[in-house]
Amino acid sequence: MQTESTARLSPGVYRVGDRRSYRVAPDGTVRSVRPSGKPSRQVVGRVTAGSLQVTGNGAEGGHAGDLLALADGRGTQVEAHCHRCGTRLTDPDSVARGYGSECRKAVA
Ligand SMILES: [Zn+2]
Repeated sequence: MQTESTARLSPGVYRVGDRRSYRVAPDGTVRSVRPSGKPSRQVVGRVTAGSLQVTGNGAEGGHAGDLLALADGRGTQVEAHCHRCGTRLTDPDSVARGYGSECRKAVA
């Protein structure tokens, strides 16, 4: 199953609906985030070339509907992560640029 993504999914954590959260990694893998804040080990989806593909684990785990909503731009980004290393970004300037200060130097 594949869907065109209208929203650009930057690395970070997105909340979909009021129950589920998903973590998009810099490599495009998508994992569900447990209530404890820890991402699951299983990859439930993958972002490639602007589209989000639901993997077998995602479909079996009942994530397909939520992942399609996420791809549709109906997720709320609650954390921004560095595009290079995946570290959580808190500085507004880093969030705007998409990289932490060290990685910004490395990719400049
Ligand atoms: Zn980084």
